[in-house]
Amino acid sequence: MSTRSPDVQRMYLQCEPTDKIENWSDDRIWSEFRARLATRDGWAPKEGQIFSKTVVGMRSFVTEPMQYGRLFLAGDAAHVVPPTGAKGLNLAVADVRVLARAIGEFYKAGREDLLERYSQTALRRIWKAQRFSWWMTSMLHRFPGADEFQHKVQVAELDYVTGSRAASTALAENYVGLPFDAFED
Ligand SMILES: Cc1cc2nc3c(=O)[nH]c(=O)nc-3n(C[C@H](O)[C@H](O)[C@H](O)COP(=O)(O)OP(=O)(O)OC[C@H]3O[C@@H](n4cnc5c(N)ncnc54)[C@H](O)[C@@H]3O)c2cc1C
Repeated sequence: MSTRSPDVQRMYLQCEPTDKIENWSDDRIWSEFRARLATRDGWAPKEGQIFSKTVVGMRSFVTEPMQYGRLFLAGDAAHVVPPTGAKGLNLAVADVRVLARAIGEFYKAGREDLLERYSQTALRRIWKAQRFSWWMTSMLHRFPGADEFQHKVQVAELDYVTGSRAASTALAENYVGLPFDAFED
């Protein structure tokens, strides 16, 4: 569940990436969410209108370097994260921030060093977000061919994250977003 506003939630459940959205009626979606979210004390999610639904393929991808001569790549053109970590748009904005500063300095002061370091600077954040998104996905999804051992490790990971203050703080730090200046010169 990912809160978008006081009234709107984005909610995900896992299905086959080749599944068709036509197979997922609103009733079927709510019944799956009820099975996952209802708690033993009788709490259940409030069921509202579903106004957008889609099947999203999940993938992780990074282009290195994010530059070819005078061509610079930013955002999804350079890297894709699975939506589990909610990092794609944030990463795109972070890239643009670094690149805009480098282009500004090039035209203002003739400096080329920031442009030369753009890829390296941006990739420090990108790989951390890739790691976080991969970790969230590997904790929250079922994988084809995974055995009982892997499943138990996933459950233990979830139990640890929800039961340990140190682990939940690390998740929160990454989910909220690492500070801009942590990776910039
Ligand atoms: C289901 C889902 C949930 C997501 N949730 C989150 C989230 O919670 N948090 C988060 O941070 N990110 C999230 N993202 C990721 C986020 O939407 C993207 O990472 C972000 O939009 C990337 O921005 P961008 O500017 O690089 O690319 P885009 O937003 O894709 O922009 C590229 C633009 O270029 C245009 N374009 C393409 N080809 C051409 C062309 N030939 N000529 C001219 N224009 C062209 C496209 O129409 C588009 O407008 C989510 C993505 C999905 C699919």
